[in-house]
Amino acid sequence: MTTTISTPVNLYDYGRPALEDMLAGWGYSSYHAGQLWTALYRRQGDLTDLRPDLCGRLQAEATTALPTAVADLASSDGQTRKFLLRLADGQTVETVLMHFEGRDGVPRATACISTQAGCAMGCVFCATGQMGFVRHLTPGEIVAQVLFANRELPAGSEPLRNIVLMGMGEPLHNYDNTMTAVDILMDHKGLAIAPKHITLSTVGVVPGIVRLADEARPFRLAVSLHGATDAERQALVPPARRWPLAELMAACRYYVQKRGRRIFFEWTLIAGQNDTPEQAHALGRLLGDISAHVNLIPLNPTMGYGGRPARGTAVRQFQEILAAYNLPSTVRQRRGIDIAAGCGQLRAAKS
Ligand code: SAH
Ligand code: SF4
Repeated sequence: MTTTISTPVNLYDYGRPALEDMLAGWGYSSYHAGQLWTALYRRQGDLTDLRPDLCGRLQAEATTALPTAVADLASSDGQTRKFLLRLADGQTVETVLMHFEGRDGVPRATACISTQAGCAMGCVFCATGQMGFVRHLTPGEIVAQVLFANRELPAGSEPLRNIVLMGMGEPLHNYDNTMTAVDILMDHKGLAIAPKHITLSTVGVVPGIVRLADEARPFRLAVSLHGATDAERQALVPPARRWPLAELMAACRYYVQKRGRRIFFEWTLIAGQNDTPEQAHALGRLLGDISAHVNLIPLNPTMGYGGRPARGTAVRQFQEILAAYNLPSTVRQRRGIDIAAGCGQLRAAKS
């Protein structure tokens, strides 16, 4: 873990092995560490069932404080809620809760969580990119968004089981803290979120993708592409200058080959910019030899960028061209547009 944790330590910053080590250093067995883990993740952080001496020491030297919401907005259709959460140092991050009906007809929810306050990558159309980098989130600050979202589900709901790391920030720029957080989310004695229900979205940080492949991380990977030629991509996504498409696609192919699973490619459709038949053909060719699924998202307009969302006809034509290359694609709805639910937009509006 790269983050230095000041006193008092926040127990949500620790993965299970680190928590066991800490308690072992205090003279407690792994059995007690297991009890603490259950208290944190299955009993809403209630430590009172632990041995009184352990509970007392934890209360004196550690905290289980979660962020508090400073804004809570519901979309007009009631399907999307967006929270602006205040962290211990006053920084704010966004968490979005999206309700949908599962294939079995059961109501479910997906939480979209942040990994950084701000972002260093500077994608031109993104509200988080427009605000610049503030700091990495700690593992606990990432996990806390899921705990928070769970508490906000309607009474009687199943606990959250779908998580997308698609909020503020670039997760592979905060690799270690993000992986500790994901390990905590997946831990089968805690929140037990299935790896196939966790999607990490990256702007295309090549060394991070290679590391994910080598470490055999089991969750799903999405890569934000937005341009199928270097010139088009560099105009929208500054890191594309550091990692040209040839390098990015080589890393993606390596990932697919090592992990044996497809990659989702995200494409924000901007009218007259990257919604053209030329870009669709270039994308079809680019992804021709890779196991891929394309998610098309019409642009959510932001304060700092003049582009407009692609029109319905352009979206349909784009999708038809991809289909001609046997490239499956889905058009994602722009959810919660009336509550600034696009990445970084609420914090930008509040500051
Ligand atoms: N940094 C990561 C994850 C956070 S952004 C990444 O870039 O993938 C999550 C997704 O939202 C990305 O695909 C990003 O391109 C997209 N996005 C950001 N701002 C948007 C906007 N204004 N309209 C539509 N999509 C946007
Ligand atoms: Fe950062 Fe992703 Fe926004 Fe780009 S799209 S600025 S990588 S959060």
